[in-house]
Amino acid sequence: MANWVALRCVECGHEVARSADGQKCDSCGAVYPTHQASGIPVFVPTSSPLNVEEILAHKITESALDLDVAKSHWQTGKLRELLDSCAGKRVLNYGSGDGGDRRWLEQAGYELVSFDIYPGPYTDVVCDGHFLPFADAQFDLVVSTAVFEHLYNPFWAAKEIARVLKPGGALVGSAAFLEAYHANSYFHMSHLGLSEVFKRAGFTKVEIYPGWSYVESLNGRFWPWNNVKAINRLTRPWRRLRYKFGMWLWKLAYAMKGREVPDRVRLGFCGSLIFKAVK
Ligand SMILES: [Zn+2]
Repeated sequence: MANWVALRCVECGHEVARSADGQKCDSCGAVYPTHQASGIPVFVPTSSPLNVEEILAHKITESALDLDVAKSHWQTGKLRELLDSCAGKRVLNYGSGDGGDRRWLEQAGYELVSFDIYPGPYTDVVCDGHFLPFADAQFDLVVSTAVFEHLYNPFWAAKEIARVLKPGGALVGSAAFLEAYHANSYFHMSHLGLSEVFKRAGFTKVEIYPGWSYVESLNGRFWPWNNVKAINRLTRPWRRLRYKFGMWLWKLAYAMKGREVPDRVRLGFCGSLIFKAVK
């Protein structure tokens, strides 16, 4: 983990000094173990539902990494455009999975700190996103792709993100809207829901854009054969085309009335939404 990162106790908020043989809070006495195989520190408070024993026993597998997904996030497209619109290079990857995004973000010149709820080949810390082990106002940017639907209290988590961001810092990422339940997802949010979560956490400016469509996320995934990767690759262009055609019809219908497509249509049929929220 980068030297500039100041850690704090997830029980009492006091600063915690770095140490090779585990971290201990001088104020409340909380002790934070280290995942032995990787040396990654584990900062989980007693009030978190995460199981520390399970985290410590977790086996890291490099072969399961899907680096292409990370590449699709950050090499081109809306997320990259939003990232490029932000100032500063110190980034927290909030819910980084195995940390596969690291390579792409570092190539783009960012200094990265990555965490998730289990240790991965390219992660720095294990913690619960509702209790971040970082001191206030340290990051220029927080990136978070496909994580918010997995949070049991997104309002609370957004407040923690705002706390560790510098004033004027930004949160950039994506969250599920019309995606099916997957991997312990709790709250899938519309653009209004997302906006509410961020504004109540203290973010002043929120922008929301369409991610992938419901035709790809719901309709596509529902059919069992589309869960076979090779078939999915073949049928995906057809689904994208159908959605584009439908959206074109909406645009045409509104253009005839001399109006822009409203958010209800533009964002209302999205599998996921992409966002930028500025503190
Ligand atoms: Zn403490």
